[in-house]
Amino acid sequence: MDGVKSGNLYHLIESRFPADMQARFITLMDGPRQGVWYTYADLVSISARFAHAMVQLGVKRGDRVAVQVEKSAENLFLYLATLRLGAIYLPLNNAYQKAEIAYFLEDAEPALFVCRPEDEAGMRELATRYHVPAVATLGIAADGSLPDMALNLSHHFDTVPMAADDLAAILYTSGTTGRSKGAMTSHGNLASNALTLHQLWGFQPGDVLLHALPIFHVHGLFVATNTTLLNGGSMLFLGKFDADRLVELLPQASVLMGVPTFYTRLLAHPGFTHDLVAPMRLFISGSAPLLADTHREFSERTGHAILERYGMTEGGMITSNPLVGDRVPGTVGFPLPGVELRITDDEGQAVSTGTIGQIEFKGPNLFKGYWKKPEKTAEDMRADGFFITGDVGKLDEHGYVHIVGRAKDLIICGGFNVYPKEVETFLDGLDGVAESAVIGLPHPDFGEAVAAIVQKKPGCDDVTEANLIARAKEALANFKVPKRIWFVEELPRNQMGKVQKAALREQHKATFTGPA
Ligand code: AMP
Repeated sequence: MDGVKSGNLYHLIESRFPADMQARFITLMDGPRQGVWYTYADLVSISARFAHAMVQLGVKRGDRVAVQVEKSAENLFLYLATLRLGAIYLPLNNAYQKAEIAYFLEDAEPALFVCRPEDEAGMRELATRYHVPAVATLGIAADGSLPDMALNLSHHFDTVPMAADDLAAILYTSGTTGRSKGAMTSHGNLASNALTLHQLWGFQPGDVLLHALPIFHVHGLFVATNTTLLNGGSMLFLGKFDADRLVELLPQASVLMGVPTFYTRLLAHPGFTHDLVAPMRLFISGSAPLLADTHREFSERTGHAILERYGMTEGGMITSNPLVGDRVPGTVGFPLPGVELRITDDEGQAVSTGTIGQIEFKGPNLFKGYWKKPEKTAEDMRADGFFITGDVGKLDEHGYVHIVGRAKDLIICGGFNVYPKEVETFLDGLDGVAESAVIGLPHPDFGEAVAAIVQKKPGCDDVTEANLIARAKEALANFKVPKRIWFVEELPRNQMGKVQKAALREQHKATFTGPA
């Protein structure tokens, strides 16, 4: 690539810096430092000083830097500093507790662990136990030992040249089954995805991204941040999602990236109107399925069609609805340019259009395998290099990908396959149902039985278990009809908006079998 010094992602980012380095990169829109902003010149100097501080703490090229801190601009500079140093950035969900952190420190063997100042004592103890040589702190108010150390260090740092295949980051997967695995991601993986998305989503000078996602996950860290950086653009930065703040800030932004819950919460906000968002350029959704109903309601209210895309820790972004063309509700669009995607049966043979099967892909975005788990990597890889995502879906006649669920969520009731999504789509379409989650539970006769957890629409108290089951019986084969339905105020979700089906299964597991 012209003018890019090496495969280090930072070198690519640097080649796209705005002509005026005093242009704003981030403005903080909440928290103790609301109103503070950082320019591109600040990005260069703070990341350089952080890189020097890490060198002093003993971090070298190829070392892991584990980070569990609150979202802040300095957190992003730490990410960039780690890239510049040629070390491997390892962000950890800030909800993880000590016992979970212990596993990551033991597994990843970082050279440095950066934690919140308030957690320092406990985390130092863990670090000692797992032989992590250095600990530093970084707080939400740009405080902590790392910025303190960095204060008087040089503003210049020679970014380490890297090959495209060298590792840039390890992100642990959400780990809904078994122990979370570290997905090894290279500079080339991140660069190719960022370049593709920057172009595909039509980023242009002057775009302002409203950033309200966490930055320990692919979505907020790579998709949102790297596309903005390649645009030399700016972000309005919120520590957390807050519908009131979004409604206030949307008029200053042109792009929003969110998980589906952002959009349902915005639609429930009285201030979220057509006029408010008329000047917006693009709303993007991902990380969990966006209900077709939410998509339609959003279009009716605002005139904007949400652009839904699909991705995962192991591949960054994989598919996207088009910028120009139909953004079809309930689909995740087409494979990204350069990404090959196929739907297969259990033997890995491609199935025909419209047939449900496993989603597999390969391309420059495909990760380098699971950290220290070559056997697990091999299990999920086909001989021809395709990765088995664990998602189940189909391709329609126009080439759009539809996701039906996760393979492990498939319910087998009396020998018949039930795709939860089919039952969920049916239930969601009934009057009075806001959203449903369908799960399989152990059953003495059928092996597994279908059950549902339903969130009612406000004011629809007349919806009952008996009448939903009666309506399901009229429309669905008997083995697909939920044998039990429970109602909840709100479906349990993780921070990325994913419904926590494992927790629901655990809660209701003894329904048909009685306590073990
Ligand atoms: P993570 O690795 O935490 O990013 O989770 C990746 C998983 O999220 C994928 O394998 C899908 O199951 C799910 N996912 C991501 N985007 C979508 C989407 N647009 N629709 C449905 N599921 C999605």
